[in-house]
Formats: sequence, structure tokens, C-alpha cells
Amino acid sequence: MPLDPETFDALIDTVRRFVAGRLRPLEARVEEEDEIPGEIVREMREMGLFGLSIPEEYGGLGLNMSEEVRVALEFGRTTPAFRSVFGTNVGIGSQGLVMAGSDAQKQEWLPRIASGEVITSFALTEPGAGSDGASVQTKAVREGEIYKLSGTKRFITNADKASLFTVMARTGGEGAHGVSAFLVPADLPGVSVGRPEKKMGQQGAHVCDVHFDEAPVPAANRLGAEGEGFKIAMRVLDRGRLHIAAVCVGISERLIADSVAYAAERRQFGKPLADFQLIQAMIADSQTDTMAARALVLAGAALRDSGEPITLEAAAAKYFASESVGRVADRAVQIFGGAGYVADHGIERLYRDVRLFRIYEGTSQIQQLVIARETMKRRG
Ligand SMILES: Cc1cc2nc3c(=O)[nH]c(=O)nc-3n(C[C@H](O)[C@H](O)[C@H](O)COP(=O)(O)OP(=O)(O)OC[C@H]3O[C@@H](n4cnc5c(N)ncnc54)[C@H](O)[C@@H]3O)c2cc1C
Repeated sequence: MPLDPETFDALIDTVRRFVAGRLRPLEARVEEEDEIPGEIVREMREMGLFGLSIPEEYGGLGLNMSEEVRVALEFGRTTPAFRSVFGTNVGIGSQGLVMAGSDAQKQEWLPRIASGEVITSFALTEPGAGSDGASVQTKAVREGEIYKLSGTKRFITNADKASLFTVMARTGGEGAHGVSAFLVPADLPGVSVGRPEKKMGQQGAHVCDVHFDEAPVPAANRLGAEGEGFKIAMRVLDRGRLHIAAVCVGISERLIADSVAYAAERRQFGKPLADFQLIQAMIADSQTDTMAARALVLAGAALRDSGEPITLEAAAAKYFASESVGRVADRAVQIFGGAGYVADHGIERLYRDVRLFRIYEGTSQIQQLVIARETMKRRG
């Protein structure tokens, strides 16, 4: 059920003011400290951001996909690490539970995920299993009413803050059908989290290894049936890809606004940069890229809300939006010239930040493979 339009408009207005007034002034500090200030996390909790996509009956706002991408788009207008604070709770960390959890599992976890009391992470990637997610080697071995979980997960967003992991682990033979999904509390014996990695961008959003050493996971914490884990993970990622694509569109729009403002003010050869047609060409290309990406995101979200499969549309939106925000960021550096390369205006920071979008939740090459496979399937 979508929110009534007035309530939704009020939410967007609040988010817009929060992003512009509270978050944008803190961008340089977050970059330097590699941490989101605690008071911002508290304010996000109070705004209900951790529960955006969680059904109302479990304490969330219950936004549909079209509404969620509009919120993600607004959060694209600032450093993307802010969105990561609640991004896993809204998306990949909670949606396996929303889609495939039992009533008891939902009752136990979703209200605390929606309030932000519980931070969730999604743990698919491993040292030996990245793009080939179906080849995970983390093992879950059933012993009566528990599974003993052993293995290492890599690059897990928010792992250092998480109290609940959705873990994809092998319960059967090789390949996708041997993978099951589990809700794994971080405080189980045998669960440990490595130190945050040093990264190219998105400072303030942390990724760590997560180790499982015979962690005793209750059998009641399995999501769905044995062997359904990979399918659940892919459904979660379909949704997540639309969300990420929306963030890319928001950042593109921010970069265009910054570029236009700078081009109007900076003068060379006795005129504003904006008067030069070669600068205008870059603005036109960025605007066209961004409008196309936005259209793909909104169409994909509307399709999901109508109950149709979106594997093709989500992959196409994520592929196009993540590639195009890279082009837009590159042009923004060019329009700013030397001022784009040095740190003052934050353009170089966004240029580094957006590079990740072509890698996680499926690289651009994986999106191409998905798009081709789905297109051929639909064409018989
Ligand atoms: C900051 C960050 C946050 C992340 N957060 C999470 C998280 O929360 N949870 C999680 O589970 N994972 C997470 N990941 C992992 C991320 O999803 C993987 O890094 C990504 O899927 C790619 O896997 P890989 O790094 O092992 O690269 P590889 O799979 O080794 O790929 C290397 C290169 O080979 C290409 N390639 C691979 N296979 C093919 C093919 N068949 N055809 C053509 N080209 C191919 C890839 O496109 C890429 O260019 C995160 C990663 C980062 C960097």
C-alpha cells in the first residue's frame, strides 16, 4: 500500500531539508573522520529511515518501491555514506527476511530493524566467491536443532555495526541449489568481525570481513527451505539494484547542479564558463544521461509495484545509472578544472565515491550478463 500523497510529500520534504541542512555541511568531516556522527544516526532513527521499506505492521513506514527510490534519490544529493547508515536495514540486510521470513522470524527481528536498534548486514561475498555468488564455500552443517556455520565473508557493509547478518551458506552440493540463507546474530559464539578496510571512497561507510567458526545457528533461523538461499539473495539484489540506481541518479543531479553553478560563476576569457559551448556540451550530455537513468529507475520501480518480475529492469537501471554517474562525475571534474581535482569543492570526493556503484550489488559486467540472459529468455 503506498502512503497517501500528502504524507509522502511531507516525508520527501523532511528528507530534502535534512540532506541540505544537516548532512551536506558535514560531508568534509565525515570524509576526514571516516565516521558518521552519532547525533546524525539518532536523528535518522527518529525520522524512521531504518524502517522505510519494512511493512507498517512491523513498525516500518512500508514504502512501496516507487516511494523508496524517491527517498534514495534525495539521499543521493549528499555523500553516499550517509545513506549506507540505514541502507542495509532498508535493503539487502532486511529484505530476505521481509520476503522469505516466517511470521515468528519477522516478529522477532523486523520491529527492531525498523527502529534502527538492530543493524543488519548482507553476507554473500567471500574471498573466493564474488561475482560467482553461487560458489560460496561457507558451510552450514546441520546437527539436530542447530547448524554449525564456518567460513569467511568479505567486504560486508556495516559489519562492524551489525547485530544481525543474513548469511548465504552451503548446506548441500555445489552450485546455487546447495545454498541456504540464515539469520545469524552477531553475538553468537564463533562469530567475529575484522577491522574496517581502507577504501577508495565512501568514507564513513565501513566494510569488514566476517568470520564464522562453528557458530551454532538455531535451525529456526534458516530463511525459507534448505537450498532456497541463493534464490532469496537474487530477489533481494533485484530490489537493491533499483535502490542503488536511484542513489546514482541523485548524485548525478547534485553534480550537475554544482557544475552549472560553478560554470555560471567562474570566468575565463572575459566570460562565464557557462557561455562556452564546449562546456554546454558536457552539461547536455550529463543531463541526458541523468534523465535516461531516472526514467529507467522509475519505470523499474513502477513495474515492481505492479507485481511483475524486474530482474531485467533492475539490472538495466543499475548498469546504466552506475555507469552514467561515473561519466557525470568525470565531466564535473572537467568543468571545475583544477578546482575539481583538489578537495575544496568535494567534486573529487564524489568522483571517488561513485566508482563503487559499478562494482557492488553485481559489477557492470554481471549486469550485462543478466540483461542479455533475461532478454534472450523473454525473446524465447
Ligand atoms: C565497498 C564494498 C561494499 C560491499 N558490500 C557488500 C555487502 O554488504 N555484502 C556482500 O555480500 N558483498 C559486498 N561487497 C562485495 C561486492 O558485491 C563484490 O565485490 C562484487 O560482487 C564483485 O566481486 P569481486 O570483488 O570478488 O570481483 P570478481 O568477481 O573477482 O570480479 C573481478 C572482475 O572480473 C569481472 N568478471 C567476473 N566474472 C565475470 C564474467 N563471468 N564475465 C565477465 N567479467 C567477469 C568483474 O566484472 C570484475 O570486473 C562489497 C564490495 C565493496 C567493494
